[in-house]
Amino acid sequence: MTDLQFDQRHLWHPYTRLHSKATLPLVERAEGCTLYTRDHGPLIDAMSSWWSVIHGYNRPELNKAIEDQLGKMAHVMFGGLTHQPAIDLGKKLVDITPPELDAVFFSDSGSVAVEVALKMAVQYWQGREKPHKRQFATLRSGYHGDTFATMSMSDPDDGMHKRFHGLLHEPIFLDAPPLGFEADDHVVADYLRKSKKNLQQNRDKVAALVLEPIMQNAGGMRVYSPEILAGLHDICKELDILLILDEIATGFGRTGRLFAYEWAGICPDILCLGKALTGGYLSLAATIAKSSLAPDIEGPDHAPLMHGPTFMANPLATAAANASIELLLSSNWQQKIKNIARQLREGLSSLFALPQVEAIIVKGAMAAIHLDHPVDAARVQQIGFEHGVWIRPFRNLIYTMPPYSISESELAKVIEVITRSARGMRPAIALRRDNLAIARRDKPST
Ligand code: PMP
Repeated sequence: MTDLQFDQRHLWHPYTRLHSKATLPLVERAEGCTLYTRDHGPLIDAMSSWWSVIHGYNRPELNKAIEDQLGKMAHVMFGGLTHQPAIDLGKKLVDITPPELDAVFFSDSGSVAVEVALKMAVQYWQGREKPHKRQFATLRSGYHGDTFATMSMSDPDDGMHKRFHGLLHEPIFLDAPPLGFEADDHVVADYLRKSKKNLQQNRDKVAALVLEPIMQNAGGMRVYSPEILAGLHDICKELDILLILDEIATGFGRTGRLFAYEWAGICPDILCLGKALTGGYLSLAATIAKSSLAPDIEGPDHAPLMHGPTFMANPLATAAANASIELLLSSNWQQKIKNIARQLREGLSSLFALPQVEAIIVKGAMAAIHLDHPVDAARVQQIGFEHGVWIRPFRNLIYTMPPYSISESELAKVIEVITRSARGMRPAIALRRDNLAIARRDKPST
């Protein structure tokens, strides 16, 4: 049995059948924005390894931070002990987020970071003697992870977790925000009015509203207006509902601001970070709360926050995160992201002419083509292999979230693959008029 046959028969990969037919590219090493594969040669990574590898692969600065830390200790329990990389990272996170967000909980993945945020919210309302506030509200078309509580928040119809219905919590779903970074005033007002009504009816049971700010990601690659985000923030304040922002995908510059909430000039009660936190080197996440919530989270009986993963604040991961944040902040990341956005906008705008294209979304270092039918993913990936690009479309979406370090010529190849793929897709037989309207309205915006 070859190694690839072993992989095919014995290893599960994300969201795939065990005995999947496909043989997967075997990545032997990675450097810059390139994955060096055994059978498909070098491939430019259009996905940043699921949006995390913002600086590219094999960065000497990150390697060194991990190697230095490895010489001291790879891991030590965080229960009852502490260590320098965790303290340094805590300081950095407190420093780069609004002053109120100053109580940091480290965990090992994005899903867990959201779970921790949910627990904080439940404990908070118990402490405030409103234990009936224990349900969550969220937006349709969202995605917050694969654990049970976070699955509950995924879109109930289009999400990946439909088969678990019945086992999941039932959140209050607000409509998905209207597509487009720039939205007409009446569209914003209408959306906020409906959302407020829904939240108002449920304010006695809703502990927190959980959402991805500005950009909904795995739930459908949708960008929405900062005015909607600001409006939802204000509604939460008015109705005494906590606001939990999941910036696991948008954090650390992806949308063109360090954090997406900055577009709306708001501060959440609780913020979840992950993915790019370590520059995509190691699994680490953080849930950052206002410390003003802590007394109520602990309640009159001074109960601790009930969570504590084995690998909490892992020293290698926190060391990588320190180096990644330093690298990001000392770079001209804003300019790089503007350049990426400009190139994506210019390179992809011709696709508007295609009848099968419903919308083209460009926001910061992200572009998504929404087609009016499911994408033939294998075919898109084959086009990618032919052009030396790694891309992984899903549902009706062909998208890229490249490393910020991608060069103009590398990005040109990614654009070429997206363009060829979108052109190669058959238009749906019957075009829906409302979809065309979306395409016209949604001019790509930065
Ligand atoms: N929230 C968002 C917005 C995400 O995009 C993801 C991962 N795609 C998660 C949570 C879950 O993160 P993880 O895969 O690290 O558990």
